[in-house]
Amino acid sequence: MKDFIQGFLNVLYPPYCVLCGQLLPMEDWKDGLCKSCAESTPYLTGNRCGFCGRELEWGDICHSCLENRPVFERGISAFDYEVLRDGIARFKFDGSREDGKVFGRLMADFLLSYHGDWIEEIDFLTGVPLHAHKQKERGFNQAEILCQSISLYTGIPYEKDILTRTKETIPQSKLSAKERHKNIKNVFIAQHCSDKCVLLVDDILTTGATLNECSRALYREGAKKVEVFCLSVTE
Ligand SMILES: [Zn+2]
Ligand SMILES: [Zn+2]
Repeated sequence: MKDFIQGFLNVLYPPYCVLCGQLLPMEDWKDGLCKSCAESTPYLTGNRCGFCGRELEWGDICHSCLENRPVFERGISAFDYEVLRDGIARFKFDGSREDGKVFGRLMADFLLSYHGDWIEEIDFLTGVPLHAHKQKERGFNQAEILCQSISLYTGIPYEKDILTRTKETIPQSKLSAKERHKNIKNVFIAQHCSDKCVLLVDDILTTGATLNECSRALYREGAKKVEVFCLSVTE
């Protein structure tokens, strides 16, 4: 019975801090953050690459984005993936949507606090789509949950179904950088984005191959500008 109640409450609120995993006193459940992570949230706020948001000692483009210049106009990421590794696994693979809502709220806070100037020019948010089979298997699309929450806290409209994934692909995490590019090529189609400034949202930015292909599809359909916002970026 206790497990059942715990399970039920887990669906409503995360009983642990989504960032560090520490168990929370009940009064903090609805925030999903421990006091220490709420007070000093480890956002990426130093000098950063203008395409992926990775922190840099100097300059404004990281080595990886210099080598493979992204298709999108500019990009930011709220966290270093290492900080969120366990949290993202709970969110995506344990299917904890509530964790995703907290992550989306943090992304909104990051955007409002550090990139408020972006908000005015963005027409709408949209997420990187999963293939229908994959979405059915997981029960939700993680990017969609992040978009809904970001939209709720920033007021930026969220447009679903702008991008469609036409083919099922091997998960990018199982492939090398070179293979990722090939695996995802021409997999997406876009609609209803002509002359729009689109903020494209995803959970993890690694090589940027998926975000580049989504951006290509959006530009093909006449998007004015594609900007990228990820929950986290890998090293
Ligand atoms: Zn914490
Ligand atoms: Zn970069």
